[in-house]
Amino acid sequence: MIYSNLLSEIPWLQHGFSTRIDPLSQEGMAGLRQVHSAIVLAADQAGVAGEGDSLVTNIAGVPVSVRTADCYPILVADMKNRAVAAIHAGWRGTAAGIAVAALRAMNGRFGTQPADVIAAIGPGIGECCYEVGLEVAQQFGLQQAGCVNLAAANRNQLISAGVPEASVEITGGCTRCDAAQFHSFRRDKERAGRMISFIEVSSLR
Ligand SMILES: [Zn+2]
Repeated sequence: MIYSNLLSEIPWLQHGFSTRIDPLSQEGMAGLRQVHSAIVLAADQAGVAGEGDSLVTNIAGVPVSVRTADCYPILVADMKNRAVAAIHAGWRGTAAGIAVAALRAMNGRFGTQPADVIAAIGPGIGECCYEVGLEVAQQFGLQQAGCVNLAAANRNQLISAGVPEASVEITGGCTRCDAAQFHSFRRDKERAGRMISFIEVSSLR
């Protein structure tokens, strides 16, 4: 399990990015039918909340979770209002601004201000391995086919939305390079497993 240093300091929440070494089940967690969108849903209980790519909640004891294998899991906590979000960000979701959409949904539901937010970007496919064609590259400001840094793109979006630079953490690790630790869709194709990342407002104080 990979933990964010920043999120680990918060006493009222639990979180984790699972790996293939210590897999996690989504049972008992709220999850999504992920569709590479910028759709954000709210979870008030365990189970599939619907179709979308980010889940938010402020309910204690309801972990919100996403599944990834190369796409980036992003976990968000609102320090002031004790609300959380789990985000699934591949290139489509990133280009559509899913992380900022999650912040906006948290603002609407919980009054979240970006200045109070801690965000941890978990392991995904690194720039080293994420070669894309022209059409995708153009979504990220490149003029030609090349390598895209999805973690940095999400980090920049969060900072542009007002999250303090020091409050955004990238845990690191390339899912495609590190076969021992991570599942990777690019590397393993249809055989690829998925890794679960979750964040939960703890019922314990
Ligand atoms: Zn790599």
